[in-house]
Amino acid sequence: MKPKTKLIHGGITGDPHTGAVSVPIYQVSTYKQEAVGKFNGYEYSRTGNPTRNALEELIKDLENGVAGFAFGSGMAAISSVMMLFKSGDHVVMTDDVYGGTYRVMTKVLNRLGIESTFVDTTDLNVVKEAIQENTKAIYVETPTNPLLKVTDIQAISNLAKENNLLSIVDNTFNTPYWQNPIDHGADIVLHSATKYLGGHSDVVAGLVVVNSKELAEEVHFVQNSAGAILGPQDSWLLIRGLKTLGVRMEEHEKNTAKIVKFLSTHPAVEKIYYPGLSTHPGNDISVNQSRGFGGMVSFDIGSAEKADDLLSKVKYFTLAESLGAVESLISVPARMTHASIPKDRRDELGITEGLVRISVGLEDADDLIEDLSKALG
Ligand SMILES: *Cc1c(COP(=O)(O)O)cnc(C)c1O
Repeated sequence: MKPKTKLIHGGITGDPHTGAVSVPIYQVSTYKQEAVGKFNGYEYSRTGNPTRNALEELIKDLENGVAGFAFGSGMAAISSVMMLFKSGDHVVMTDDVYGGTYRVMTKVLNRLGIESTFVDTTDLNVVKEAIQENTKAIYVETPTNPLLKVTDIQAISNLAKENNLLSIVDNTFNTPYWQNPIDHGADIVLHSATKYLGGHSDVVAGLVVVNSKELAEEVHFVQNSAGAILGPQDSWLLIRGLKTLGVRMEEHEKNTAKIVKFLSTHPAVEKIYYPGLSTHPGNDISVNQSRGFGGMVSFDIGSAEKADDLLSKVKYFTLAESLGAVESLISVPARMTHASIPKDRRDELGITEGLVRISVGLEDADDLIEDLSKALG
């Protein structure tokens, strides 16, 4: 099945009882048992719900995995995966991970004794050096947020296997439409489905896919025990969003290519970050492991003042956190999504006050370019 077909016909589709072509919203908490312990697949909706299950089957198919799991947010998905580890365990992570991921590792999970080291995962030697005796996993985000650094998933998975570690990939930016980490050896793929997968800025959700039966049992155990599940209504919204993921990603890609071309030659733009540019350090790996480059672009215009000026002038780019929706969004990571990362660390990473991140939406590219052109002056 080709990717666009899979989005429509993958997982569980429709309703066998009525012929409804869309999976019904099973807004229910519990299920009748014929006798004690004798039930029809479902007993309680934290453990399993038919609408959530349809979504979980779909994301499993889209990521070529063994089982899928839906959570109440991307952070709930990430935190639940981290609950596979125990006090004293250590995880090596990408240095410019999503701000919330950095926060949960360094301010919450550290309290439970789960240790983490943040390194530049684009440099395999640095990752090797960061592996300790108690390391249990390598966690990468690729491309990263907001600098769009690209990590070689196959190389990281190989390194993980050699050292008996799990490899975990946050695939939020590229989505399963462009990139399938499990095909490159990853053990666990996770998503903030709030972004492209939902795609319409109307649902907060997280998804996890694993590559083995053993991991499926463990993640299900955590999901059912800790209970950070996605509700049926939001599961349905995500299934609905996913049906158009292919056409949306194709259009995001086309619009982004045009905008990158415009920004690359604009005198106000000092630096531009996009994996699709042949000058981008991750371009080769990107071409190798992904079918597209995504709709996220970051560019540096030099100062907080200039960034504020741009933000006040754009009409079609909404100043907001989040990304991956039909409407174009704009943000200043240093003062928004990455504000929870200390300033000296941000400067070290290149997340300056003049760095602007855009999520290119599905408006007409000509309008978006005209908007940026006027605002940049
Ligand atoms: C948004 C985001 C998250 C967190 O997801 P939520 O749905 O906001 O909890 C994690 N990783 C990446 C890359 C993100 O962009």
